[in-house]
Amino acid sequence: RTSWLNKLKSGLARTGSSIAQVFTGTRIDDALYEELEAALLMADAGVGATQHLLDELRRRVKDTRCTDPAAVKALLMEVLTELLQPLEAPLQIGATQPTVMMVAGVNGAGKTTSIGKLTRHLAGMDCKVLLAAADTFRAAAREQLSVWADRNRVEIVSQEGGDPAAVCFDAVTAGKARGCDVVIADTAGRLATQLHLMEELRKIRRSLGRSMEGAPHEVILVVDGNTGQNALTQVKAFDEAIQLTGLVVTKLDGTAKGGVLAAIALWNRERVAQGKPVVPVYFIGVGEKLEDLQTFNAREFAQALLS
Ligand code: GDP
Repeated sequence: RTSWLNKLKSGLARTGSSIAQVFTGTRIDDALYEELEAALLMADAGVGATQHLLDELRRRVKDTRCTDPAAVKALLMEVLTELLQPLEAPLQIGATQPTVMMVAGVNGAGKTTSIGKLTRHLAGMDCKVLLAAADTFRAAAREQLSVWADRNRVEIVSQEGGDPAAVCFDAVTAGKARGCDVVIADTAGRLATQLHLMEELRKIRRSLGRSMEGAPHEVILVVDGNTGQNALTQVKAFDEAIQLTGLVVTKLDGTAKGGVLAAIALWNRERVAQGKPVVPVYFIGVGEKLEDLQTFNAREFAQALLS
């Protein structure tokens, strides 16, 4: 447990130190808030979330009449944790058999790796998992997924060059017949033809819907935590096309700035205000190994970001 926190901390270290740096002075003045604004923007929090955090912080500093920058930092930790809190949600399995998950993400985001890690996580909970290789176009994608299937000793439904929607339909049918607990569909992620990709994903979603009542039960987008505001743009675009139910944010052990989670949290706040459900962060990726998938914890994340 500490080892992944350390990976997260060292991944966010540069950002964290520049935010922490803001509070090393002795005065609470406009300069402090300006520096903080710059540091949050640099950390990829985005304009909206930065503004939200600053407004909330100023209000609390006034309410508590705090005079010490270290106390302001503690208030920022509180405000940030509260903003991130709604993103915390466990991935629920078992309400239906199988639970059907569709996993999407642009190439390179860490989608296949995350599916491998998730499969291991589920297998560790004694779940019987079936993988569906719905990126039928890229041979490398099918091969990579079958490597993860072998490593986790789970079955895979794959068909060279077939119709992705049909592969998904077949996988759910097989999953039902074989008494699987979870079926995970790995989808294509070529962004060069974004319109075509979104159309294909919508087709897969519809096909999964026909394969079983209520399916897909989860529609998960994998985004690379290194891509900053781009990650939020992807979340919005995929949500519009296939109505996401959750996220995996990867590579937070690397050079990721982490602030993008604040931006995603603010986007969710706006959704909730419109009566829409939260799209939580089910997991974060903190490395390339099977065990490097962790549930998202708002407080730990805020601490890592500000340490
Ligand atoms: P896909 O194209 O979205 O399926 O991406 P892959 O799963 O093939 O991952 C792309 C690269 O990112 C690979 O080299 C992975 O090992 C790496 N990767 C995935 N997740 C993580 C993570 O959480 N941390 C780090 N450091 N690397 C990751």
